[in-house]
Amino acid sequence: MASQEIEALATALSRLPGLGPRSARRAVLWLIKRRETSLVALLDALGAVRESLVECATCGNVDTANPCGICADPRRDARALCVVEDVADLWALDRAKLFAGKYHVLGGRLSALEGVRPEDLTIGRLIERVSQGGIDEVVLAMNATLEGQTTAHYIAERLENYPVRITQLAHGLPVGGELDYLDEGTLAQALRARRPVG
Ligand SMILES: [Zn+2]
Repeated sequence: MASQEIEALATALSRLPGLGPRSARRAVLWLIKRRETSLVALLDALGAVRESLVECATCGNVDTANPCGICADPRRDARALCVVEDVADLWALDRAKLFAGKYHVLGGRLSALEGVRPEDLTIGRLIERVSQGGIDEVVLAMNATLEGQTTAHYIAERLENYPVRITQLAHGLPVGGELDYLDEGTLAQALRARRPVG
């Protein structure tokens, strides 16, 4: 039987994505065995993040500085703005290093089912950014879900009267995807987005 404190740590860790109770227990044991090195390093890192974590007032990214590292980076193309649903999407796109512009995090997607309305997202702030000028292209990088696409359509409509090019991620065949294994939605998208060969 572990002590109350150790149980509490295991419970807290088991709530992390990808960790169940078993792997959380294993992590706790691992940390206890290395308390002078790994446990102290983890504590320091958690403490430092807790102290300095802020939401970027410009784009909604989570970073240790406001404006965030991306907004403050002068090498990034401020004329291209990529709109994503969540911070996780921003990080995924940025890790892939495919987009050299700036971002805007909506903080979710429109959902009639869950009662998420435009005013619950940062759509107003997005319109404000675009209306200030200096942006040529807005890339709508919503998820390929019904709600994601509804959100993209809504934003495209709201931006209709601004002099910006509005583009959207192409949703097609995943690399290495076999037609057999694809769901109908992906296949339909791929077919609609077909282009001439060569
Ligand atoms: Zn930012």
